[in-house]
Amino acid sequence: MVWEERWHPLRQEWVVISAHRNDRPWHGEVVGAARPDPPAYSPECYLCPGNARVSGRRNPDYGGVFVFDNDHPCVGPAAPAALEPPPGIYRNRPASGLSRVVCFTPRHDLTLAELPQARIVELLGALQTQYRELGARPEVNHVLMFENKGEVVGVSNPHPHCQIYATNFVFRTIEVEAEASAAHLAEHGRALFRDVIAAEEEDGRRLLVRRGGALSFVPYFARYPYETYVAPRATHASVADLGPGELEDFAAVLGETLVRLENLWRMPFPYVMVLHQAPTDGREHPGFHFHVQIHPPLRKPGLLKYLAGPEIGGGNFLNDAAPEAKAAELRAVSAVHYKREEAAARG
Ligand SMILES: [Zn+2]
Repeated sequence: MVWEERWHPLRQEWVVISAHRNDRPWHGEVVGAARPDPPAYSPECYLCPGNARVSGRRNPDYGGVFVFDNDHPCVGPAAPAALEPPPGIYRNRPASGLSRVVCFTPRHDLTLAELPQARIVELLGALQTQYRELGARPEVNHVLMFENKGEVVGVSNPHPHCQIYATNFVFRTIEVEAEASAAHLAEHGRALFRDVIAAEEEDGRRLLVRRGGALSFVPYFARYPYETYVAPRATHASVADLGPGELEDFAAVLGETLVRLENLWRMPFPYVMVLHQAPTDGREHPGFHFHVQIHPPLRKPGLLKYLAGPEIGGGNFLNDAAPEAKAAELRAVSAVHYKREEAAARG
């Protein structure tokens, strides 16, 4: 039984691991029930090739990765520039920036886990271009790239896509991580994330996939039961700095890691996936180590990890599962996607 507090060095906060609580009875709602497989093309989908979006614009008949400006931007050039000054100590400013959508593939029915490695490399290449282009804009101080996947994280359209928020501010998690990385490098002469990788490899129990210049693992300090990190071994500020060989290794590790997550319960696995990349605010961010964090909200099939008193009220996470046990579950499943195995079995 694991029942202890673990230090999260990137977020600079404690995580309570209390694995004995995962089997407590549950009388509430069960989420994410299996749905019929979506079609390869959906005439109602605003992301499928050739379809019209709410803005009235029509998607091109694209064949690979397709990037466009979000029709419902969170930050954007149309946000009001002239604002009413708030009273007293309150502050405001224009929600400037750019929001984009990146479709992974014209196929409506595939998940990122089902894409062949060449398609994942193509996607990462497109994200490299986006990071360079958006990060070079003077008004953009950070480029957040993320995929929300599954209805339990608020996405009803299964068409595989991610989003980009190029903002005038640096997201809080990245700001803390950049400061912690710089402080660690100054104090120890080593990149913080490289020390995380070293500790994971020394222990070994939470490692998932290793391929040349990249690896994945459930971190020691995981906040969600199946939280998983995918990282290159070398320290780079962003995905844009990965060389061709590193990109291949990274894509292979990311692909197999996602396959293992989907194979766990043989269903499209919901998660929030975030690329952790250095701010583009013109400052140096020594020791910042690009990586991907996958945060799955389910702790069992159909059972959400609810954010409640500790997380929302207190700001620290309580994880009801031992990261070592969850990593073992992910290592025990096949590295071949269950849909591919089913298709092979059907002949
Ligand atoms: Zn679609």
